[in-house]
Amino acid sequence: MNFLFPRRCPICDSVIGKDRLICDECINIPRRVKEPRCMKCSKHLDSGNKMYCRDCEKHKKNFQRGLSLYEYDSVKDSINDLKNNSRPEFAEFYGDRIAHYLGEDIKEFEAEALIPIPLHPSKFKKRGYNQSELIARQISKRLDIPVYDDVLTRKIKTKDQKKLDDKGRQRNLVGAFHMAQNGVKLYNVILVDDVYTTGSTIDEAARTLREGGVEKIYFVTVAVGFDK
Ligand SMILES: [Zn+2]
Ligand SMILES: [Zn+2]
Repeated sequence: MNFLFPRRCPICDSVIGKDRLICDECINIPRRVKEPRCMKCSKHLDSGNKMYCRDCEKHKKNFQRGLSLYEYDSVKDSINDLKNNSRPEFAEFYGDRIAHYLGEDIKEFEAEALIPIPLHPSKFKKRGYNQSELIARQISKRLDIPVYDDVLTRKIKTKDQKKLDDKGRQRNLVGAFHMAQNGVKLYNVILVDDVYTTGSTIDEAARTLREGGVEKIYFVTVAVGFDK
């Protein structure tokens, strides 16, 4: 990635040196998800006696399991800036931290590909980049797993998930993704996204891939919400 603008700290937005990814003052602000964690979606659990969060206990998922690095609360504004305020370089910080802290666990998935959650073409055009793809590219650089950004596409322009409840979010996404039947046959992949909240986006993307013949689907996200 080549930027004409000075690099900024992903948390406080102050200008930092070209060789830095975060400023000294903010280094401890992103909070890593604490143990114990859900064995399926890696959300923090409020009790050590459970294996799964309420959601994963209740609903069968289309993915094997997933990993998230930070508690959503601690990086919420930064992720919003990454997506909506023209700060694509923040993806470099997040991808780098994912590779650093979760790299060993990610390698254990033995996946053949990183697949970013796609944006609808009209949204991509407006934003100019897909943050999930930028995060995936950074992880790829560090862990040497290739990015396949043309396997999954978004064909339906869905409503903003934030404005919907859990049921609405699921309904909103049904059929949103499409899997391209290209030459490469993939069996084991990792979906990459910025945030896992209700998990409905990741789950619908996983369902689409599963229908297309992918056997094992994992996910990695920068941040995850709390168990509700
Ligand atoms: Zn800062
Ligand atoms: Zn869970």
